[in-house]
Amino acid sequence: MPRTLVLASNNPGKLKEFGQLLAPLGYDVRPQDEFNVPEADEPYPTFVENALAKARHAAQLTGWPALADDSGICANALGGAPGVWSARYAGEPKSDLRNNQKLVADLAAQIDKSAYYYCVLVFVRHANDPQPIIAEGRWNGEIRAEPSGQNGFGYDPHFWLPAIGKTAAELPAEEKNRLSHRGQALRVLIDKLKQSN
Ligand code: IMP
Repeated sequence: MPRTLVLASNNPGKLKEFGQLLAPLGYDVRPQDEFNVPEADEPYPTFVENALAKARHAAQLTGWPALADDSGICANALGGAPGVWSARYAGEPKSDLRNNQKLVADLAAQIDKSAYYYCVLVFVRHANDPQPIIAEGRWNGEIRAEPSGQNGFGYDPHFWLPAIGKTAAELPAEEKNRLSHRGQALRVLIDKLKQSN
């Protein structure tokens, strides 16, 4: 009998990816809007605090175990910005084009163009779980002024991978999943869930 796991996101891409990878562990991953859970606030300055708040909120309102993720891009020369503000770096309404233009402009005077994508996943067994399972992933690259590639989303056309000689937007989806911050975090989470079962 599969165990229900609420995903504190309504993103269909994440639901599919997480659902496929967690099914072999016996989880039936359901989006939070199926339970009429409204989006939680994400007011915190760290990814892990925001992910924990989202997971706890979904578990609280549904009574089921919950999984949340939080991710973004961090430029080293900018002290980790855009960071948790990645989705709205250039303000409202959120726009990938304007976010990318702002990031490129902010780095224009900097020699260090290095940046990394970061993802954290937080799993809670229940809203008051004293020991959430936390998994992280990090993907290093550089910000290139010229965009290139049609795949992916967000900052991918500017996220240059020197070892591969491509941007993240030039990678096929399977290769991005294998290398990305989100893919790494998911594999760590799966290992930790297996150990805790
Ligand atoms: P979220 O945590 O999935 O909501 O992502 C927050 C923001 O980080 C997104 O809106 C993007 O701007 C950025 N981001 C996170 N992961 C990626 C990625 O894999 N490619 C491009 N942008 C990303």
